[in-house]
Amino acid sequence: MSVLKKVFQKIDGYRDEIITLQTELTSRVALGPKNKGTGEHEKARYLRDCLEALQPDDLQEIKAPDTQAEDGYRPNLVTRWYTGDKIGPTVWVLSHMDIVPPGDLSLWETDPYQIKVDGDKIIGRGVEDNQHGLISSYLGLKAILASGIAPGRPLGLALVADEETGSEYGLDYLLKNHKELFRPDDLIIVPDGGNEEGTMIEVAEKSMLWLKCTVTGRQCHASMPEKGNNSLYGAARLIVALEKLKEAFDQEDDMFSPPMSTFEPTKMEANVPNVNTIPGKDVFYMDCRILPRYPNREVIAFVEDISRKLAKELNLSISVEPHYQQDAPDPTPADAPVVRALEKAVKMVKGLDAKPMGIGGGTVAAFFRKAGLPAAVWITTQDSAHQPNEYCLISDIISDAKVFACLYLDQYH
Ligand SMILES: [Zn+2]
Repeated sequence: MSVLKKVFQKIDGYRDEIITLQTELTSRVALGPKNKGTGEHEKARYLRDCLEALQPDDLQEIKAPDTQAEDGYRPNLVTRWYTGDKIGPTVWVLSHMDIVPPGDLSLWETDPYQIKVDGDKIIGRGVEDNQHGLISSYLGLKAILASGIAPGRPLGLALVADEETGSEYGLDYLLKNHKELFRPDDLIIVPDGGNEEGTMIEVAEKSMLWLKCTVTGRQCHASMPEKGNNSLYGAARLIVALEKLKEAFDQEDDMFSPPMSTFEPTKMEANVPNVNTIPGKDVFYMDCRILPRYPNREVIAFVEDISRKLAKELNLSISVEPHYQQDAPDPTPADAPVVRALEKAVKMVKGLDAKPMGIGGGTVAAFFRKAGLPAAVWITTQDSAHQPNEYCLISDIISDAKVFACLYLDQYH
């Protein structure tokens, strides 16, 4: 029997093991202090035992100091298998241990921390985000070792804290304090995003820019509008005027979905409580996702220019300020070794052509890219992360474990 067939057969037999791991991990609630929890410690202790069972060459627990967390730190587990070659590029898979809170419990059909298995489906908080990626990358390696085979190249599994609330005590901490762990020729995979077919390899993201627009006029009785100056009318005119952003920044890039920059008015703050008052102040926000080719400051300058003209026309005062912004890091090249290796492995396991793509923004891979490390985000996902009744498919975990096994074995593709 071929080596790959042997390993795949092992993985096909992991249904019960997947259910056990999902049960144990989901019951160890890993919420960071910003989500009113104490950290990932209990889950990390359980996972440490799982990793030790695979006899790594090196297992470090890197403690990121966090005074709000249990014992004053957040745990990060970094595990390596050298396979006789410490020097060569390492295949890294970085998953996160923390979860988001379940939210409104009345929207859940089950206890979020007690998994429910329904045929191929596993339901519970964290089963997809990020236990799907964590378990599939772990079982891919376990199957290789259990088949008595050595991986084809050095491997690393990193299980980090604090992905859901900014990564200050997770990946960002590792990159700032243990930069030597990762090297630019490593193949770095973040199994925390993708599509239902498992054909999307995320290599780029748009810049994010959230703008706060404040329109100030003068409040007055609605029966005598000439005595005031209506800020809601001003805000409405500004929202319509900002449609011009779409023409001014209209270039497209087919790697992204959608291919153009997006500019959407979203949140509106409450103004007056009653109908018969003309409001004197209105605040609304724009969510802009901008192709990396346009610097955020160009967009801000454009919005300021439109605001200035409109303020003059309507005799209002308008201020525009960034509420949050993040310039997109340079994308991982579409022909980077990690992308090529993923394409080959997906083809081998699923018979499908995976493609490098860009998204609207916001994955932990951006930290790698900013540090000059080419990372790819990939997984087969039902995209139920952060939602009530979060679920994953056992068959997806099995297929993804096979893809990871192909990556680890290297010489078989
Ligand atoms: Zn996640």
